[in-house]
Amino acid sequence: MSIMSREFCYDVVIIGGGPSGSACGIELQKKKKSCCILDKATFPRDKVCGGLLPEKTIHLLHELIPEKTVEEIKKDVMIDCSKSISFYYNTEFQVRSSLQTEFIITERKFFDNYLIDYYKSLGGVIYEGVKIQHIDFVKKKIYLVDGTIYQYQYLVAADGVNSYVRRQLPVKKFQNVFFVEYDIKKEDFNHNSDLTFFVYQGKQLGWSFPKGKYYNVGLGFPKYESNAIEITKAFMSEIGVKNLERYSRKGAQLPNLTIVKPYWKNQVLFVGDAGSFSEPMTGEGIYQALYSGRMAAFSILNGKNVAKKYAKLTKTLRQSKRVLSLFQKKLFSHYNQVFKRLKKHPYSIHKVVDGHIGKRLFNYSNLITFFLSYKLFRDEWYKKRK
Ligand SMILES: Cc1cc2nc3c(=O)[nH]c(=O)nc-3n(C[C@H](O)[C@H](O)[C@H](O)COP(=O)(O)OP(=O)(O)OC[C@H]3O[C@@H](n4cnc5c(N)ncnc54)[C@H](O)[C@@H]3O)c2cc1C
Repeated sequence: MSIMSREFCYDVVIIGGGPSGSACGIELQKKKKSCCILDKATFPRDKVCGGLLPEKTIHLLHELIPEKTVEEIKKDVMIDCSKSISFYYNTEFQVRSSLQTEFIITERKFFDNYLIDYYKSLGGVIYEGVKIQHIDFVKKKIYLVDGTIYQYQYLVAADGVNSYVRRQLPVKKFQNVFFVEYDIKKEDFNHNSDLTFFVYQGKQLGWSFPKGKYYNVGLGFPKYESNAIEITKAFMSEIGVKNLERYSRKGAQLPNLTIVKPYWKNQVLFVGDAGSFSEPMTGEGIYQALYSGRMAAFSILNGKNVAKKYAKLTKTLRQSKRVLSLFQKKLFSHYNQVFKRLKKHPYSIHKVVDGHIGKRLFNYSNLITFFLSYKLFRDEWYKKRK
C-alpha cells in the first residue's frame, strides 16, 4: 500500500463489509494481498434479516475461520436454533416435520461484526462511515465526499441489494422481492420454536423464526405492493401477534428473481446480494454471500482471467438459483396440491429441507429426484394429458 496525501492505493478495494465483503477480505488477507473494505456504516451495524444459518453455512464459516471448530463457530454465532419446520396456509396449520440438521439462528448485528473482527485480526483494514461521491471505472479510482481517493486494481462490489456500484454501471437492473418484518417479544406471540412458513393469501410467503426472547416474523412480496404494510399488519393480526403497534417495522429487499452475470468487464466483481446470489425460495443469502465473496478472492488471487474464473466458480450458485426459481413458481401455483402431498408424505419435507437446503445447494438433479420420487406434479401432468 502506498499513501500520497489522502490518496490510498490497494490491489483490491471491497465496497461493503457484510458477509460477502468480509469473506472476500478474509481470504485475501490470509494471502497477504493488499486490500481494504469501505463501508458506509460503522460496525457493529444492524441488518434486516431472519438470521437463519443452515448446516452448510456453518461448515462454510469453518472453512473461512479454520482455527475454530464447527462446534465453536455454532456456539459463537448462535442466539437460537430449531430442529423442526411447520407450514401454514394463512392461519390453518398444514404439516410439520422434525429435521435432522440443526438450523442455527443468529443476530446479524453480532454476526457481521464477528466476521469483521476476524478480518481485522488478520491485519485487514476497514474504513467505516465512508460516503462515496463518485467512481471512475476507467482510472480505477473511488472518490469520497471528504476528498479521499482510493485507487484499485480490482473492485469488489459487496454493497448489498441496492448496490451503489451496480447503479453506476450499464448492467441489468434487479427485479426485487420486498419484505416487511418485526421482532416480536415471545409474550406477544404464542408460538413454538419451529421454523414456520406461511403461504398467505396464495401470494405472499410469511415466516416466523425463534430469536432468543423474540420471534422474527415477516412477510415477503414478490413485487412492489403499495399497501404492503397494511397487508403485513393483517397477516400479523391473523396469526395472533398482539400489541403490534409497540414494535418497530423494518423493510428490506432481495434480488431474488434476477440472475445476472457476476462481473462487469474485468475489474469489477459483484458478490453477495450485489451479484444477485440470494436464493428465491426462502430468501437465503448468507451462505451465497460468503461463498461468492470467497470465490471472488480466489479468482483475484489466481491472477489470470479473473472475471471468467469468477463466473466459473460461482456457476453452481446461479444454477441452484435457476432451479429454485422454477421450483418456487410451481409451489406457488400448486400450493393446494403441494400441501395435500406433503401431509401424505411428511418425510419428503425433511428430505428436501435437510438434504438440499440444510446440507448443500439445491441443483437440477435434486429437482428431478424430487419431482419423480414425490410425484408432486406428476398426477397433475397425467390429468392434463388425459
Ligand atoms: C427480510 C430478510 C430476511 C432474510 N433472512 C435470511 C436468513 O434467514 N438467512 C439467510 O441466509 N439470508 C437471509 N436474508 C438474506 C441476507 O440478509 C442477504 O442475502 C445477505 O445479507 C447478503 O450479504 P451481502 O454481504 O451481500 O450484503 P449486506 O449484508 O447487505 O451488506 C452490504 C454492506 O454494504 C454496505 N454498503 C451499502 N451501500 C454502500 C455504499 N454506497 N458505500 C459503502 N458501503 C455500502 C452496507 O452498509 C452493508 O454493510 C434475508 C434478507 C431479508 C431482506
